[in-house]
Amino acid sequence: MLTAAEIRSSFIDFFVEKKHTVVASSPVVPIGDDTLLFANAGMNQFKDVFLGTGGREYKRAVNSQKCIRAGGKHNDLEDVGTDTYHHTFFEMLGNWSFGDYFKAEAIEWAWELLTKVWGIDRNKLYATVFAGDKEFGLDFDKEAAELWSKVTGLPKERVLSFGRKDNFWEMGDTGPCGPCSEIHIDLGPERCDKKNVPGHKCKINGGCSRFIELWNLVFIQYNQFEDGRILPLPAKHVDTGMGLERITAVLQNKNSNYDTNLFSPIIEATSQISGKRYSGSLNGKTDIAFCVIADHLRCLVFAITDGGMPSNEGRGYVLRRILRRAARFGRQLGMHEPFIYRLVDVVVDSMAQAFEELKQRAGLVKTVIKSEEESFGRTLDRGLEIFSTAAEKAKSSRLISGADAFELYDTYGFPLDLTQLMAREKNLKVDTAGFDNLMEQQRQRARAAQKTNSFAFVVTDTKLPATGDSAKYSDEKITAKVLGWIDNKGFHTKGSVSSTDGGSAIILDRTCFYAESGGQTGDAGRIVGPKGTFVVEAAERMADCVLHRGKIEQGTINIGDEAEAIVDASRRESKKNHTATHLLQYALRQVVGEIAHQQGSLVCPEYLRFDFTSSRALKPQEIKEVERLVNEKIAQALPVTSATLPIKEAKKLGAMAIFNEKYGDTVRVIAVGASDENHLSEAFSKEFCGGTHVANTAGLGGFKIIREESISAGVRRITALTGKGLAEHYKKNSEIIEKLSQTLKVPPEGICERVNKIIEDNKNLNKQLKNASKQSGTDILSKARQLLENCEKIGSSSIVVSSIDSAPVEEIRDAIDMIKKKAGSAAVVFGLSDGDKVVLLAGVSDDLIQKGLKAGDIVSQIAPIVGGAGGGKPQMAQAGGRKSENLPQALQRAIEFIRQKLRK
Ligand code: ATP
Ligand code: MG
Repeated sequence: MLTAAEIRSSFIDFFVEKKHTVVASSPVVPIGDDTLLFANAGMNQFKDVFLGTGGREYKRAVNSQKCIRAGGKHNDLEDVGTDTYHHTFFEMLGNWSFGDYFKAEAIEWAWELLTKVWGIDRNKLYATVFAGDKEFGLDFDKEAAELWSKVTGLPKERVLSFGRKDNFWEMGDTGPCGPCSEIHIDLGPERCDKKNVPGHKCKINGGCSRFIELWNLVFIQYNQFEDGRILPLPAKHVDTGMGLERITAVLQNKNSNYDTNLFSPIIEATSQISGKRYSGSLNGKTDIAFCVIADHLRCLVFAITDGGMPSNEGRGYVLRRILRRAARFGRQLGMHEPFIYRLVDVVVDSMAQAFEELKQRAGLVKTVIKSEEESFGRTLDRGLEIFSTAAEKAKSSRLISGADAFELYDTYGFPLDLTQLMAREKNLKVDTAGFDNLMEQQRQRARAAQKTNSFAFVVTDTKLPATGDSAKYSDEKITAKVLGWIDNKGFHTKGSVSSTDGGSAIILDRTCFYAESGGQTGDAGRIVGPKGTFVVEAAERMADCVLHRGKIEQGTINIGDEAEAIVDASRRESKKNHTATHLLQYALRQVVGEIAHQQGSLVCPEYLRFDFTSSRALKPQEIKEVERLVNEKIAQALPVTSATLPIKEAKKLGAMAIFNEKYGDTVRVIAVGASDENHLSEAFSKEFCGGTHVANTAGLGGFKIIREESISAGVRRITALTGKGLAEHYKKNSEIIEKLSQTLKVPPEGICERVNKIIEDNKNLNKQLKNASKQSGTDILSKARQLLENCEKIGSSSIVVSSIDSAPVEEIRDAIDMIKKKAGSAAVVFGLSDGDKVVLLAGVSDDLIQKGLKAGDIVSQIAPIVGGAGGGKPQMAQAGGRKSENLPQALQRAIEFIRQKLRK
C-alpha cells in the first residue's frame, strides 16, 4: 500500500518525467496579497501568468499546494465533521501548462496516472465536460468530450456534461476563464450518506458521498471582459488540481480520508491523550470530535507556520474560530485542559519531510496554540453552561435568541458559527439577525466612542475637500490657503476660527503636515496667518482631507487667508524613528530569521515600537547583535531612497509588505542602501511604506533598544530610541549614575560592586531580623497561633478570618496548614494588602469540605469585592485583587459565607 508521501512523490515524479518543473507550494497565508484570505488552489501563485502580466522560466509545472478553504469564496468549514472528504486544510496536487500542451495531453496523462500507474479500476471512473451556455455564447466543450472517448475509451454514458456552475472556471468577474473537466469516482452504493433522504438518487454532482470529485482539469482558453464579452485567449493554459487526501483514501482503500495515514497518527495521539477511542469514520459524537480536531489541528499548524496569527479580524479570526471549534470538540473527548498544542509535533513529524518550514516554526506554533487554548479555556466551560440554558429556553421556539448568541460571543468568546454548530447538533437554529443587530449596536457604540475625539461625528455626511499633501515628504514649511475648519458643530467654510472647548481642525488646500497613518503619528506644528496663530497638536486624515487638529493660540485664522503651515522640528525625530524601524526589521530578520514578521509598529517623535512574531523572548546577546547591526548601518551613512512603483515591480524587487494591508496599483517603496531610484535592487532593506524618512542613515545618530517584551502569544514588542530621544536617554542615565556615585561615595566604576555588597548585607540583616522576630513571637506563625486561640467557633470548628501583615505567600500557606492541623476542624481566610495589591488565601479542613464548604468557593465569592478573581482547590485557594480599600468588606463577606455554609 502506498503511503501518502509516496503518492505525493509519485504524482510529482510522473509529471517530472513529462518535463514539468517542480515548484514549491506558496505559503498558505498569502503575505502581501489582500485579494485572498488563504491560498485555496494550486493556481493562486500562477495568477499573474494567466493574466498575462507575469512570466516563468518554465512552461510546465507540477507541485503540491497547501490550501485552506475556511473562509471567503471557498468555505468548506461546515463540511468538516459532516463528511469524510472536505477539509479546511488540504493539499492540492496539480500540473500546469502555460501556453504549452492543452486538453489532449492533460486528459491522457491524468488517465494514465490514475489507471495505469496507480491502477484504479477504470470502470469506477467518470468524466464531466462543459455543456455550453447559450446565454453567455459559450459552446459545448466538444473537444474534451471527444478526447475522453478517444484517449481513455470511456463509454459515452460515463462522460457527462454539466453547466456553467459545475464545469466552467472563472478567476473573477473578468479575466481568464474556461471550461473544465472533472474526474469523479464511484465508491459504491454503500458509501451513499443520503440513503435516508426521501427521493435521493445517487449521481455525479448529486450531493452524496457515493460519487466524489477527485481531479479537476481546467482549460483556460477565454478572456472575459467587463462588458460581458468572452473572447479566445491567444495563449491557452492547463491548470489541474487533485486533493491528496481524497486520492490517498482511494489508493489506500479506506472509507474515509481520516482513516488514511495523513490523519491516523493524529487520531491515535488524540486517543492516547484523551483516553477515548476512535471507532471509524464519523460513527457518532466521539468519532466526529476526533476528525474535527485532526482537521483543525492541521489547518492551524500550517497557517501559523506560514505567518497566520489567531486574532479578532480577517484571517486571524478565521484561525481563532477554527481553534475554538477544536477546543470545544475537545470537551466532547473530556479534554478540559489545553491539549491541541500537544498534538503539534505529530503533524510536524509526519509532514516536515514535504514541508520543512514546519520544523523551523514548531515552537512558535505550539506557543500560539497553547496560549489561545488557555485564554478560551478560561471561559469555555462557563460558556457551555450558558449555552445549555439558552438551548433549554429555546425548546419550544427551536431558536437560540440573538441576545444569548451575542452574550456567548461577547463575554465567552464563542464565535457565532460555533454557537450555530452546537445549535445544529441539538436541532436548533440561531437568531442570526438578532445577533447581527446587537453586533451592529456594539460597533456603533465603539465608533461613537472613537469619534468624539476626531470630529468625524460631526462631518460624516459632509464631503470634505481633498488636501494636496505631497509636500509632506519634502518640506517643513509651505504657504497654503485656509479652506475651512471643523469644530464640534460641524464643517465651516465661512468666517474665522476661534477657540472652542473641544478645539478645532483647520483644513488647507495643501499641506506639508504628515497625517497619522502606517503607524507613524501625525505631525504637530503651527499654522500662522496674517491675523493669528493656530497650534496644531496632530494632523489626521479623513478620506483625502488632512485635518490639522489643535487650538487658536492668538488672534484669528480666517477662511481665505494665505497662511504658513509649519511643522515642528519634532517631526525630524519621527523620520529618524521611522527609518530605524526599517533597519530594525532588517536586523531582526538577520538575527532571528524570517519568522520575525511585522505585526504592527508605532513611530512617534519620542520613540519607536515594533511588534513581530517570535515564539520566545530575544536573548540578551541577540538584542545586542540587533543593536550592533542597526548601528553598523547608521555608521555606514547609507542613502535612504524612496520610489513610487507599480505594485508588481515592487513585489518583484522583493519589497516587504505588511500583512492584511491594502495597497493600490502603485506603491511607495523605501529602500535603504540604494544609491538612487534606478538602483533599488542594491538596497538591503526594501519596504512598502508611506511614511517620512531621513535622507541618510547617518541622520539617526544612533540606535538603542530599551525594552523587549511579550504582548500576546507569539508576538514580541521592541521599544527603541534614536536621535534626540536617545540623547535624552543617555543624559538621564548619566545623571542617575552621577547621583548614585555621589550617594554611594564611589566612582561610577565602583557602583556595581558597592550595590552588590549592599544587597548582600541586606539579606543578612533580614535573616537576623527574622530570627529575632521568631524568638520574640511576632512572626506569622505565632500570629496565627494567637488568632486561633481567640477565634470564633461553630460547633467544634474554628473559624479564623483576619487581615494580616504582608508576608511571603508560602509562609501564609504554612500558617493556614498549621491552623488546620492544630484545630483539627477549621476554616481559615487571610487577607493581606501590599501597596494597592491584595492577596486572599483560604484553607478548609477535610471534614468541612464534606459539609460543602470549599476554599475555592470562599475565594471566588470574595475576590470580586477586591476587584480580583481567582480560585483553587477545596483545601486551599488563592486570589489577587487591586482594591485594597475593600479588604475589610471582603473578609466580612467571608465570615458570613462560612457561617451560612456551616449553620445550614
Ligand atoms: P467539491 O465539489 O468536492 O467541493 P471543488 O469543485 O470545490 O470540489 P476544486 O475547486 O475543483 O474542487 O478543487 C480541485 C480538487 O481539490 C478537487 O477535485 C478535490 O479533489 C480537492 N478538494 C477541493 N476542496 C477540498 C476540500 N475542502 N478538502 C479536500 N480536498 C478538496
Ligand atoms: Mg468545493
